Amino acid sequence: MKHVTILGSTGSIGRSALEVLSRCRDRFKIVGLTAKNNIELLEKQIRAFNPEIAAVADEAAASELSKKLGIRVLSGDSGIAEAASYDKADFVLSAIIGFAGLLPTLSAVRAGKTIGLANKESLAAAGEIVMRDAVKSGAKIIPVDSEHSAIFQCIEGRSRESVKRIVITASGGPFLGKSRSELNKVTIKDALKHPNWDMGKKITIDSATLMNKGLEVIEAHRLFGFSPDMIDVLIHPQSIIHSMIELKDRSCIAQLSVPDMKGPIAYALSYPERLDDPMPFLDLSAVGKLTFQKPDTEGFPCLLYAYEAMKEGGTMPAVLNAANEVAVNAFLQSEIGFNEIPVVINNTMQLHDRKSALEVDAVVEADRWAREKAKAMIAKLN
Ligand code: MG
Repeated sequence: MKHVTILGSTGSIGRSALEVLSRCRDRFKIVGLTAKNNIELLEKQIRAFNPEIAAVADEAAASELSKKLGIRVLSGDSGIAEAASYDKADFVLSAIIGFAGLLPTLSAVRAGKTIGLANKESLAAAGEIVMRDAVKSGAKIIPVDSEHSAIFQCIEGRSRESVKRIVITASGGPFLGKSRSELNKVTIKDALKHPNWDMGKKITIDSATLMNKGLEVIEAHRLFGFSPDMIDVLIHPQSIIHSMIELKDRSCIAQLSVPDMKGPIAYALSYPERLDDPMPFLDLSAVGKLTFQKPDTEGFPCLLYAYEAMKEGGTMPAVLNAANEVAVNAFLQSEIGFNEIPVVINNTMQLHDRKSALEVDAVVEADRWAREKAKAMIAKLN
């Protein structure tokens, strides 16, 4: 029996994970659940899965839940971090959205857990620290991001030297093929309409700008240790090939499935075994054709900025990530237009004096600094 804690159980990945787990209660037991402020859904989840511990952001909500349900409910950042390292869990699914996932993820890493990592921002912003501390504590990180799960599956059992290149696929999002001037007119509603994947708001906007792919390139660099020039991005609008690797003899190995996050979630949970049917059958004859094209980095420059940040290293990826979170939020609040998201990110990066990112405090400070600069920039744009 594997004992599981889910960080961010009320988000899109958390809900999908509970769906997978509810079908194999003989193999997994939920011991911990955490959520930010969707208390109503968390309460339902606690009633359905009976964890031993829970955590939420707000202290008053925590004590109310605890009284109501008779379990330990922690609160605040420290409470969520404590739930992340809860000693009875073997497996921690890190599914908090954004930079807020860093400290809880690190807490699980330092406690030596096996971690199913869906929170790509923690690796993008503080990958050196997360990977270094995982080596120190013996924590194992299994990717849940579909592209990284694909690479993880393709790479398994192969030597590092046999891999020439990794190719991360991208759907291209809802605005694939649109010119920069057409992108000036897109609305929040348009941006939230992803063609293939059903995801949370932040990642859906990141997919529309291609920043999601940028963060994933940095994530892959950190997770698998390949240098930036060995990581390519390929637009594949059908989202059937989730990524691939090219071996030194130019053979390519790809992983295919329907676009359904329950697949990578199930694989991380059951690794190295596989669960029965966590997602629907892939009917390639119904898909018909798979197409590919190069990413348009002129219309969607966020991808280039991510490569720049990755090559620069240090605190620059944390700055890229923080400026992006602020810009996406401002777009969702109708404070800036779609084309201003990359402008805010690039300008914030240009102002930043890169520092070493080997300590958490340096990353947290770079994140704080970048948020402040990005917000000031957005205020000026208005
Ligand atoms: Mg992904």
